[in-house]
Amino acid sequence: MDIVVCMKQVPDTTEVEIDREKGTLKREGVDAKTNLYDLYALELAQQIKERHGGTVTVVSMGPPQAQVMISEAYALGADRGILLSDRAFAGADTLATATALACALQKLGRPDLILVGMQTSDGDTAQVGPALAELLGLPHVAYVKELVDINPTSGVLTVVADMSDTVETLQVTMPALLTCSKEVCQPRLPSYLLKKATRQKAVEIWSAADISGESDMRGWFGLNGSPTRVEKVFPPSFDQSKETWSGAPAELAARLAGKLREMKIA
Ligand SMILES: Cc1cc2nc3c(=O)[nH]c(=O)nc-3n(C[C@H](O)[C@H](O)[C@H](O)COP(=O)(O)OP(=O)(O)OC[C@H]3O[C@@H](n4cnc5c(N)ncnc54)[C@H](O)[C@@H]3O)c2cc1C
Repeated sequence: MDIVVCMKQVPDTTEVEIDREKGTLKREGVDAKTNLYDLYALELAQQIKERHGGTVTVVSMGPPQAQVMISEAYALGADRGILLSDRAFAGADTLATATALACALQKLGRPDLILVGMQTSDGDTAQVGPALAELLGLPHVAYVKELVDINPTSGVLTVVADMSDTVETLQVTMPALLTCSKEVCQPRLPSYLLKKATRQKAVEIWSAADISGESDMRGWFGLNGSPTRVEKVFPPSFDQSKETWSGAPAELAARLAGKLREMKIA
């Protein structure tokens, strides 16, 4: 089974500044680490490979220093690592990020399974995985917390997804994409022997031209392919206050209509 794991290098800090002029994140001089959820996706890929055979390829889009993350993935068992790195990718929003990853996966040939983290610790949108699946025309399941079964003959995966208000057991036929939560497995520690054996193993660097090919999506990279602009970054506020009403249906309906008008919804 050929598996691609998408991994992102994120700032090793919770205090990332925004360049207000460009609407991009200021990453210069900030230490970087592998996005935590992506380590769970990589571990799941390794476990599937160990059980069913095949290969694990890591694909990342980022600056040249993200090669370090891919070298670390080699020490965790990844067979191949590709870094999409080019100035043309700079300023990418989630759509342009998914577009570049989709072009790279088209170039690689369709893998059986694509695993991504549930979300990142910097952008934190959880959009890239589902967008990538849509661009490739593949089914996906988000927030997977358990891989129950793989049927190698039919290609059907049975997974449990935690959608926060419901937990669902779902079946999806490969090729497919899963976004992984931290419950899906326990990442292993890097192997000293593998680290030593893969020390010289090169990371393939692909430019925008390398992944453009004949794809309809070519050119929609970086700021060019990004319809969004970051205006402001702030933690969302949730109003979880509740009211319980009781009474006759007509009285409740009139009260609800009044409340909707008060909230300027109706
Ligand atoms: C207008 C705009 C400009 C931006 N400019 C920049 C910029 O100049 N530089 C910059 O670094 N960021 C920039 N960003 C942020 C960047 O768009 C996001 O970091 C990126 O799209 C991933 O989104 P996310 O972090 O929310 O990932 P999520 O959707 O939360 O990630 C889910 C999963 O998708 C996969 N994934 C996500 N990103 C990557 C990646 N790059 N490579 C491989 N797999 C990945 C991982 O498996 C990850 O766990 C910009 C955002 C906007 C809106």
